[in-house]
Amino acid sequence: MKLLEWQGRELFRRYDIPVPNGEVVEDAAHARRVAEGIGGAVVLKAQIPVGGRGKAGGIKLASTPDEAEHLASELLGSEIKGFRVEKLLVAQAVEVRGEHYLGITIDRSQRVPVMIYSPEGGIEIEEVARMRPEAVSRERIPPLEGPSGFRLRRLFRIAPPELRRGLSHIALQLYRLFSDYEATLVEINPLAQASNGLMALDAKVIIDDDHTTDLKFEEFEEIIRDSTEMAAREAGFSYVRLEGDIGVIGNGAGLVMATLDLVSQAGGKPACFLDIGGGARAERVRKAVELVLGDERVRAVFVNVFGGITRCDEVARGLVQGSRGTRLPIVVRLTGTNEEDGRRILTEAGVRPVETMEEGAQMVVSLVKEE
Ligand code: GDP
Ligand code: MN
Repeated sequence: MKLLEWQGRELFRRYDIPVPNGEVVEDAAHARRVAEGIGGAVVLKAQIPVGGRGKAGGIKLASTPDEAEHLASELLGSEIKGFRVEKLLVAQAVEVRGEHYLGITIDRSQRVPVMIYSPEGGIEIEEVARMRPEAVSRERIPPLEGPSGFRLRRLFRIAPPELRRGLSHIALQLYRLFSDYEATLVEINPLAQASNGLMALDAKVIIDDDHTTDLKFEEFEEIIRDSTEMAAREAGFSYVRLEGDIGVIGNGAGLVMATLDLVSQAGGKPACFLDIGGGARAERVRKAVELVLGDERVRAVFVNVFGGITRCDEVARGLVQGSRGTRLPIVVRLTGTNEEDGRRILTEAGVRPVETMEEGAQMVVSLVKEE
């Protein structure tokens, strides 16, 4: 579960990690009032669950409350990186002297949390690591030991000496937050050097979906996520949102992954991974198709089912019910148990099944391109 920036900021505040003054708003008039309250320039930041907002036009600087209101009315309701902007964070614009990076994640091969620091923040840490590996330092944090002094000294040996104390304090607090909330990632990028000390200008927090702590943040339950993802989870499907426009449905994680690969190789971009699981009946298939068709990014669907326990006639019935009334092309590859029945049901409903996965992938990609 990924928190939005303003939610991560709330957690930072509770853990004594400095953040600029600010408030989250849902309408332009409120943005103006917050800007008036702050006085001076503010930044308006779209609250969407992805990074890179700066480049995508999701972060604006306003020097007056008037400008804040105007820019807020433009940002709210607009679409950035595929997400509708429903909330803005209005925060004091901080004068930045330097941008650092500080994050904690889990090193799965070593099975320990690892802290990562760079004095060259503001851009993606992967990029810094690639271009200037010497500007990134990492320190494993054995859970029974925690971030002891010598580990923090080692982590921050590449930091400007006058900042090391401040950085260590923030690192300790960030580690507490990380373990209290059973996060898999906490990230401050940029951790800015401002006139009055270090400040977290951005907040990224991802909480393990299998966390065992009771959530101490019921107020975050309203987390805005892709609504298809939410609905899919409620329906009990394995669903992963991807960035493209071709809906991919199949049975079994391996088959769905292979289908994603084929679609990519054919030059297409999958919009999702949806696994209906084994032995799905018509009702479940209908639900899956409706879900994917309900995603406004989707321009075609590829259904790839291999019938074992799953019966092709059930799948076909669900498919026909779920796609009734849609104008989007649906490509189906259906083989295995009760295959003839399944194909007959599809053909009668005007859907022509393809013979192979490769053919299906090619076809769905060309249908999207034709449009
Ligand atoms: P992201 O692009 O989605 O990661 O959004 P960030 O919150 O990290 O903001 C992107 C960039 O905007 C930062 O790296 C900063 O350079 C800049 N920025 C954000 N907030 C402020 C601010 O208060 N003052 C200044 N000067 N720059 C800011
Ligand atoms: Mn950032």
